[in-house]
Amino acid sequence: MKCDVAVIGGGPAGATAANELAKAGLCVALLERNLNNAKPCGGAIPLGLIEEFEIPDELIERKVTRMAVRAPSGRVIEMSMPNGYVGMVRRERFDKFLRERAAQSGALLIEAKVQAVKAHDSGYKISADGNNQGVTEIEAQYVIGADGANSKTAHELDFPPNEFKAVAIQQRFHYAPELSRYENLVEIWFDGEVSPDFYGWIFPKADHIAVGTGTEDTRGNIKQLQKRFREKLNWSVEPYYEEAAKIPMHPRKTFVKGNAMLVGDAAGLVTASNGEGIFFAMKSGKMAAHTLLNVLAGREKSLAKYEKTFRRTYFPIYTGLALLQWLYYRNDRLRESFVAICEDKHVQQITFDSYLYKKMVPAPLWVQAKIVAKNLYHLAIGH
Ligand SMILES: Cc1cc2nc3c(=O)[nH]c(=O)nc-3n(C[C@H](O)[C@H](O)[C@H](O)COP(=O)(O)OP(=O)(O)OC[C@H]3O[C@@H](n4cnc5c(N)ncnc54)[C@H](O)[C@@H]3O)c2cc1C
Repeated sequence: MKCDVAVIGGGPAGATAANELAKAGLCVALLERNLNNAKPCGGAIPLGLIEEFEIPDELIERKVTRMAVRAPSGRVIEMSMPNGYVGMVRRERFDKFLRERAAQSGALLIEAKVQAVKAHDSGYKISADGNNQGVTEIEAQYVIGADGANSKTAHELDFPPNEFKAVAIQQRFHYAPELSRYENLVEIWFDGEVSPDFYGWIFPKADHIAVGTGTEDTRGNIKQLQKRFREKLNWSVEPYYEEAAKIPMHPRKTFVKGNAMLVGDAAGLVTASNGEGIFFAMKSGKMAAHTLLNVLAGREKSLAKYEKTFRRTYFPIYTGLALLQWLYYRNDRLRESFVAICEDKHVQQITFDSYLYKKMVPAPLWVQAKIVAKNLYHLAIGH
């Protein structure tokens, strides 16, 4: 089979790229190894994503407007979002919707696991194993690798490695009366016993609560951390489902090579500090698709423009969040200071504004000065 573009991986990044390209009339094959995939994920998405990508209301299982951060000492700061909410989706429903939307736009959705991607003439030859349907061979002029943290596409095409992967685990709990306070509350635990370098989370969904933790320390035992988290929570309910996966929190050195582009986790586009990846997966998928359309229309010289634009637009966020994690997530004394700073209303406002719409709204100078002073003060006193 021949087509213009093969998109490998039908998660948020791949489904978004395929949708944009198919809408523009290109012949697009969207290859997904498992159409019933439930990607291990907290499923928290910002309002800006919901609006830009027109996510239907019925997919948003909770619109959470309250957030609590908990320090190692047990101190809890609760805050509310005046101008929006964090949307909670379940990935098995969310990804399916995005893939079906791409198919409705004209993408050819194929359930098959890609085994090989080889340069061929001026394009690529892709071999994929379609379970009972045998091997599918696709020739495409362009390839978009959207196949997640362990990207086969990146490996086959010799992209530089995904350097930095955290691992995260999550368990699902049915609602019980003792958990009712979480129905409109996201709770984040900054506690070295729950994670030595990341955080633990409690996210509400329609019919369950997701509890998870992550770490970059691959020598540690993620299951032990989750066990400790549950001991500390001391809930009487037992989880009914467990899931785990890697989180690539460091962009690859390059994510464009020849006629191939990597998007989302395949490119390593999860932000440090909060582990957010869905927004950046969809934005990178869209940007890659639009760059390709511009190249084909002669408006742009090369696909390298995609990487350049992505880095220019979002790298201040990646750098800022990496700095935040480095500064505050190293020990409990620093975590305690971090939670103390979250009590400041301006810090809360800046955090929510920048999370919801990924725009850094510059605060007045006196507010910036106050925040710097508070940071120094809490770092010095350690709480
Ligand atoms: C426990 C956990 C919690 C998280 N919580 C959040 C959160 O709350 N909010 C947030 O924004 N981010 C979160 N993330 C990160 C987020 O899940 C990812 O950043 C996001 O899924 C990236 O989307 P993607 O499309 O790039 O990759 P993926 O979602 O990984 O999709 C890749 C797709 O490619 C398919 N695939 C892989 N290999 C092949 C192959 N060889 N052939 C064909 N198909 C293939 C897979 O089946 C999959 O469907 C979390 C991650 C973890 C692990």
